[in-house]
Amino acid sequence: MNWIKKTLNIGEKIKTLLKNRPTKQDIASSDWISCCKGPILKKDLKNNLWVCSSCRKHHRINCRQRFDIFFGKNNYEILNTPIPLDDPLEWIDSKTYKERLKEARKKTGQESAVLIVKGKINKIDVTVGAIDFGFIGGSVGAAEGEAIIYGIQHSIDNKTPFIFFPSGGGQRMFESPIALSQMTRTTLAVNELKKNNLPYIICFTDPTAGGITASFAMLGDLSLAEPGALIAFAGKRVIQATVKEELPENFQRSEHLQKCGFIDLIVERKDLNEKIGTLLSILLKQNSDINSKSDETSEDFSSISKAAS
Ligand SMILES: [Zn+2]
Repeated sequence: MNWIKKTLNIGEKIKTLLKNRPTKQDIASSDWISCCKGPILKKDLKNNLWVCSSCRKHHRINCRQRFDIFFGKNNYEILNTPIPLDDPLEWIDSKTYKERLKEARKKTGQESAVLIVKGKINKIDVTVGAIDFGFIGGSVGAAEGEAIIYGIQHSIDNKTPFIFFPSGGGQRMFESPIALSQMTRTTLAVNELKKNNLPYIICFTDPTAGGITASFAMLGDLSLAEPGALIAFAGKRVIQATVKEELPENFQRSEHLQKCGFIDLIVERKDLNEKIGTLLSILLKQNSDINSKSDETSEDFSSISKAAS
C-alpha cells in the first residue's frame, strides 16, 4: 500500500504548492513584473514608459499613466463625465454588480472605465479619452458610453480633435442591452464629430476586442496602434474552430492588421505625442513647420496623406 501513501503525499504537495501561488493582488502589489527574460523591477519598467527594453513589449498602463506619458506629468485636465444610475438591472452572479463596481472604483480611482481629459499636443487643443483595462476588463456600460459621448460633445463645443486610446473586452454584460446600446450611441456621436469636420484619431492599445472594435474604435479617420497590441472582435480560437483553418501566429496583432489595411500606422509609446502632434498639424494645416521635422516622419505620413486625399 506504500504506493497509495506516496500518491496521496504527492497530491498534498501539489495542493500546498497551488495554495502558495501568488494571488492577483500579490502580483499587483509586488515590486516585480514578469516579461521575456523573467522578473523586471516595476520601477525600471516605469522609467522606460512601461515598455520592456529587451523585447519592446508595451505593457498595459492605466489612464493616468497613459495621459502622463502622452501630455507630460499632470499636464492635462480631467473632465467630469456624467455617471448614470449604477446597476439598473440589479445583476447578481457570484457577487453583485454593485460590489464589482465598488471594487473597480477602489482599485482604479476612477468612477468609470473611461477617463476623458483636455490638453495640448503640438500647441493644438485636444480632447483625449482612454479606457482602463483594470476597471472590469475595460468593458463599456452606460457610464463609459456617456463618458465617450461627453468627450465627443466637448470636442464639438470647443472645436478640438478627439483622440482615443481604446482597450477592453467589449460591452459590459452586467448591463446587457443597456451596454449593447452604447455601440449605437457612440457610433452616432462619432458621426456628429465627422459632420463637424473634426479629426478623430484612434490609437489601439493591448487588448481591444468585442463591441469596442465593433463600434466607435474602428471609426477613426486614422487608426494607429501600439506595437504588438491584440485587436480583435472574436477570439482567435473561436475563429479557428469556426473556419477550421490554421491562422497566422500574429493574427489579430497590430503588425498583421497593418498589413491587412486595418491599421494605418504602428507607433511606439515614446513617439505617440510627436507623431499624433504631426498628424494633427497635417490634418488641421497648423504648425506646418513640424511637417518637415524629419525625413522618417515625412515618409511615415506620406502614405497616410495619399490615402486621405
Ligand atoms: Zn520583455
